Amino acid sequence: MVAVKAQNIVKRFGEVTVLRGVELDIPDGAFAVLVGPSGCGKSTLLRLLAGLEQVSEGKILFGEREVTQLEPRDRDIAMVFQSYALYPHMSVRRNLEFGLRLRKTDAATMNQRVGEVAKMLDIAHLLERLPKDLSGGQRQRVAMGRAIVRRPALFLFDEPLSNLDPALRTQVRVDIRKQHDELGATSVYVTHDQVEAMTLADVLYVLEGGEVQQRGRPIDIYDEPRNCFVAGFLGSPA
Ligand code: ADP
Ligand code: MG
Repeated sequence: MVAVKAQNIVKRFGEVTVLRGVELDIPDGAFAVLVGPSGCGKSTLLRLLAGLEQVSEGKILFGEREVTQLEPRDRDIAMVFQSYALYPHMSVRRNLEFGLRLRKTDAATMNQRVGEVAKMLDIAHLLERLPKDLSGGQRQRVAMGRAIVRRPALFLFDEPLSNLDPALRTQVRVDIRKQHDELGATSVYVTHDQVEAMTLADVLYVLEGGEVQQRGRPIDIYDEPRNCFVAGFLGSPA
């Protein structure tokens, strides 16, 4: 687990300012959701947290450590994207082992970790298959497994349910929250879906136009939206 702070984050692409002074303060072990309409800057913010892009201004801290300039591999994070990005030529087992191999984990530890994670996610019977022989939900669970198996301090999710059919969406959503709770990780989860946001978040951030419109517990924001945008977006009673 790790607390995540972002201070006065500004991100420009050329002339265009995409994030305008974003502040995040996510406690150790919290499940934070960033919600907002398409184009408001959610993915950009997540990519900055991951170290896949560099900030134009501002600071990012994981616990006491400033990570603003650090590469993704030095941040102890795992990212789960909307496209599963599994290696198509590798078995499920090899996909799960990939990050551990990079870190030169010994074979016994690797076997044990992969076994644990496969059991947890109910994919133990799929280990020798190739990704193309899995259903969408199974693929997403393998992608989760690949993130979990490294036991990172921080999970970053970018609309991980958007390619799943509605029935699976609910199931995987519940799975994600369960993994977070069991692992005692900190999670930052991006979505444009109000229901996902309201049901998953301990801490909710509502974004619009590259700015945080409101931060708080979902129920508090729903009951007392700070402005018309938040009220309209979350469907608060007038
Ligand atoms: P969201 O994930 O909330 O839909 P994004 O973070 O993907 O929003 O995008 C926010 C804005 O930044 C959009 O207007 C998008 O076109 C722009 N943007 C994102 N990445 C780039 C980039 N690499 N170059 C230029 N503009 C970008
Ligand atoms: Mg996005």
